[in-house]
Amino acid sequence: MTNEIVDTYLSGEQVLARIDELAQAVMALGPFDKPLVVVCVLKGSFMFFSDLVRRVDLPLNCVFLGVSSYGGTTESSGAVRLTHDLTLDIANRDVLVVEDIVDTGLTMSYLLGILQARNPKSLRVCTMLHKPARKKVEVALDLVGFVIDDVFVVGYGLDYDERYRNLPFIGAMRFDDHPAS
Ligand code: 5GP
Repeated sequence: MTNEIVDTYLSGEQVLARIDELAQAVMALGPFDKPLVVVCVLKGSFMFFSDLVRRVDLPLNCVFLGVSSYGGTTESSGAVRLTHDLTLDIANRDVLVVEDIVDTGLTMSYLLGILQARNPKSLRVCTMLHKPARKKVEVALDLVGFVIDDVFVVGYGLDYDERYRNLPFIGAMRFDDHPAS
């Protein structure tokens, strides 16, 4: 039997304090001539997104983009599937993509390609976490919450096999293959 162990990596208080700062940084990007289009990349960024946008005192359009890149494992396949497209035309609009984590960069690079082809006025990225150790492609990140070590994190929207998304903190996950009986 394998036990899943989750150690606190970043507390909920640490995350929220950093989101306060990120919200200020988002506001400093404005003002914009039309509401800023803020893209929530589902599912992992739903919690970060909702905590971020409620602290941004600017006119915003909140839109959702569904992307699936992981199966039930902790290894990136590199394959990205669009599961839900935007319901708004972003041509000539200022756009901020809100992501949970940039790991190899493959997902973000793919997404930015799709969004750039729709001719936004500007396209920026805000990620809660950045794991540079596993970078495969270079992606320009405008706002980064935390640069983290090469650990598999769960919580605050991030899952392992569709569990742990509801944890109110970010945990580092490890597996104990020989739990004491
Ligand atoms: P990338 O394409 O940059 O390798 O990975 C991006 C996606 O992989 C993220 O949006 C996230 O869904 C998933 N991912 C990467 N690293 C982690 C991690 O440490 N924990 C979890 N739960 N998901 C991760």
